[in-house]
Amino acid sequence: MNTAQRTSPRRIVVVGNGMVGARFAEETARLDPAGDRVRVSVVGAERHPAYNRVLLSGVLAGDYGPDQIRLPAPGGAGITVRTGVAATALDARRRVLSLDDGTHLTYDELVLATGARAALPPVPGVRAPDGGPGEGVHTLRDLEDCQHLLSQTRPGAPVVVLGGGVLGLEAARGLVGRGARVSVVESAPWIMCRQIDQGAARVLADSYAAVGVAVHARRSAARWIPGTGLEVDDGTVLPGDALVVAAGVRANTELAARAGIVVDHGVVVDDGLATSDPRVHAVGDCAQHPGGGAGLVQPGWEQAAVLARRLTGSAPHASYTGARPLTRLKAEGIELTAFGRVHEDDDAPGLETLTISDRHGGRYAKLAVRRERVVGAVLLGFPEAAATLSQLYDTGAPVPSDRLALLQGPPTTVPEAQGAAEAPVCRCNAVSRADIEKAWLDGARTREAVAERTRATTGCGGCVRDVGALLSGMRPAPVG
Ligand SMILES: Cc1cc2nc3c(=O)[nH]c(=O)nc-3n(C[C@H](O)[C@H](O)[C@H](O)COP(=O)(O)OP(=O)(O)OC[C@H]3O[C@@H](n4cnc5c(N)ncnc54)[C@H](O)[C@@H]3O)c2cc1C
Repeated sequence: MNTAQRTSPRRIVVVGNGMVGARFAEETARLDPAGDRVRVSVVGAERHPAYNRVLLSGVLAGDYGPDQIRLPAPGGAGITVRTGVAATALDARRRVLSLDDGTHLTYDELVLATGARAALPPVPGVRAPDGGPGEGVHTLRDLEDCQHLLSQTRPGAPVVVLGGGVLGLEAARGLVGRGARVSVVESAPWIMCRQIDQGAARVLADSYAAVGVAVHARRSAARWIPGTGLEVDDGTVLPGDALVVAAGVRANTELAARAGIVVDHGVVVDDGLATSDPRVHAVGDCAQHPGGGAGLVQPGWEQAAVLARRLTGSAPHASYTGARPLTRLKAEGIELTAFGRVHEDDDAPGLETLTISDRHGGRYAKLAVRRERVVGAVLLGFPEAAATLSQLYDTGAPVPSDRLALLQGPPTTVPEAQGAAEAPVCRCNAVSRADIEKAWLDGARTREAVAERTRATTGCGGCVRDVGALLSGMRPAPVG
C-alpha cells in the first residue's frame, strides 16, 4: 500500500465539464476506480452532460444529433459531476471555490478546465451593447450556439461566415450542406493561412466554390447590417440573414486572474501543469504551456492524462512537454491534412520541397523535407499519402528517395519504418497501430469494438478511414 492509499482521499475540484475537464475525471476514475486516493468534484457551467465539442461541426452539418456526441460519463466511485453550475470566485489562500448556486467547495487541488470562448471582433454591429453577439450574429462554441444557429437558418437563406480558418470553413461547409447560401470573409491573404500555404488555399477555395461557398480573402469586415448583410472594406455588402463569427477564441482566464494567479493569454502552467499557485492546475484551452497546445483537443487530453497520473499518485512526476499539431479539416467531400513547417520559403537553405498542384482535379500536395526527414506537409485530396506522411513525421524515419511515389502511391510504398507500429493512428487519443493490433488480437473485430477498447476514432473522427483500413488488413494467424 502506498502513502496516498493510507491517508484520506485528496479532494480535487475541477472547474469546467468540457472535453478536457471530463477527460480528467475519466482518467482519475480509471486510475482510482474505488476513490481511495482522490475524490473528484466536477462543476460545469453548461447544463448538458459532457459532449464532444469537436463534433459540433458535424452536428451543424447534420452528420450527428446532439445525443450522438455525448462523452462517456466517468464511472469511478469517487467522482461527482454537477452541470449547470458555474464557479464565480476562487479564494486560493483558503482553498475555497464559490459557485453561482450560493454553495462553496473546498479543495486540496483545483483543476481549471474552463476552456475558451468565441472572440467577437470590434466591428460595428457585431457586438451588442452588453458585449454579447449583436442581432443576427452567432458564434459556434457550444451546443446551444449550434442549436440556435440551426434554428435561425432556413434553406436558401444567405449566411456570411466571418473567418476563413478551420472552424469558419467547417461551419461554411455544414451550412451549405443544409441548403444555405454561404459567403466566407477572411482578412488574411488566404484561407487557413496558419496551417496551409497559398497554393493549397487556392485549390481549397476552388473546392468550396464548387459546392457553392464564395470565399473572399484579403477582405475585412466593415459593418454588420442586421437583416441585410456584411459590408466589407471595399464597400461591397455580402447578403446575410445571419453572421457566423469564427474569428478566434479567448481563453477563459478570469477566475484565475481575479485569484491572483499568473495569466497571460491563458493561465500560465509548467510541465507539471501547475499554475503560479502549486495547488491550482490548468489544462486544455484555458492553459498556456510554453510548448503550446491550446485550441486542440489532443494536447488537452494528453494534459488531462498527465495531471490525473500526477494527482492520483500513479506517476507523480509525469510531465507534459508540448504539442505537435496536425490539422484535419472536417468538411464533407474535402480531405485536407496539414502539419509542420509548410510556410518556409522553398529556397530556404537545406529545405527540399515537392509540390503538386492540380486545380482542375481539386488536389494539391506539398511535402517539405529537411535532412531526409518530413518536416511538414499539406495534403488536399491525398488521404493515403496523408496517412503515410504523418506517420513519417511522427516517427522521424527517413523519407524514401522516390518522393513523388510517396505522394501518389498507396501506403505500402513506404518501407516499414523503425517505430512505425508505435506512431499514432488516432492522434486525439494517442492510439498507435500496435494498440489497435493488440485490441484486434484480444477480440475487437469491428471499429466500434476497437473504439471501446482503445478510444481510437472517438476524438475528431479523422482516423476512421485509417482504423478501418488497418482492420480490413488484419487476418487471424494461421493455425499450426
Ligand atoms: C466547432 C468546433 C470544432 C472543433 N474542431 C476541432 C478539431 O477538429 N480538432 C481539435 O483538436 N479541436 C477542435 N476544436 C477545439 C476543441 O473543441 C477544444 O480544443 C476542446 O474542446 C478544449 O477542451 P476544454 O475542456 O479545454 O474546453 P471546452 O471544451 O471549451 O470546455 C470548457 C468548459 O468549461 C466550462 N466553464 C467555463 N468557465 C466555467 C466556470 N467558471 N465554471 C464552470 N464551468 C465553466 C464551459 O462552459 C465549458 O463547458 C473545435 C472546437 C469547436 C468549437
